[in-house]
Amino acid sequence: MAIRRICKYGEKILDKKTRTVVFSEIKKDLAALLTDMFETMEAVGGAGLAANQIGLDLRLAVIRIHRENEEPLSIVIINPEMVEKSGSMYEDEGCLSFPGLFAKIRRAAKVKVRALNEKGLPIEINAEGLFAKALQHEMDHLDGITFVGRLPLMSRLKLKPALMKLKGQWKKIDESKMKPM
Ligand SMILES: [Zn+2]
Repeated sequence: MAIRRICKYGEKILDKKTRTVVFSEIKKDLAALLTDMFETMEAVGGAGLAANQIGLDLRLAVIRIHRENEEPLSIVIINPEMVEKSGSMYEDEGCLSFPGLFAKIRRAAKVKVRALNEKGLPIEINAEGLFAKALQHEMDHLDGITFVGRLPLMSRLKLKPALMKLKGQWKKIDESKMKPM
């Protein structure tokens, strides 16, 4: 088990559509990879993590939603496809590839998604609220779209200075981690 480095805004892999997973090819390493992904996500308090956020060109993501008085809702989506979208919500969103940045993003309120689960079996997910938001956010990642890319152009331009400042901070954090112990 290991905590992986999360790619940040500006790294090319985040802007590239990921490759469809051939389940038989990743089967052997999948359990270890998923453990790492959940661990990495939990370590920084995220609700979702796409494979390309840790530098892997795979159409695969994990989501974990913490709920009051209930077990967390954990799900693995491999090769997800959006089947239906309805309604609309407009809520604050953040992203592990943009630590410290939040923006209001327009999303569908309800979604239906088909995917394979961690066993390679087809699943159909009906989600709303936070879960629907996480699914749309992670599936966007797999298509090479970050949440900032969902903002209207004017809002994106306004965010530029804040992003540049954040980039400087992330660089310092990454460099300090690379120093020998
Ligand atoms: Zn994200």
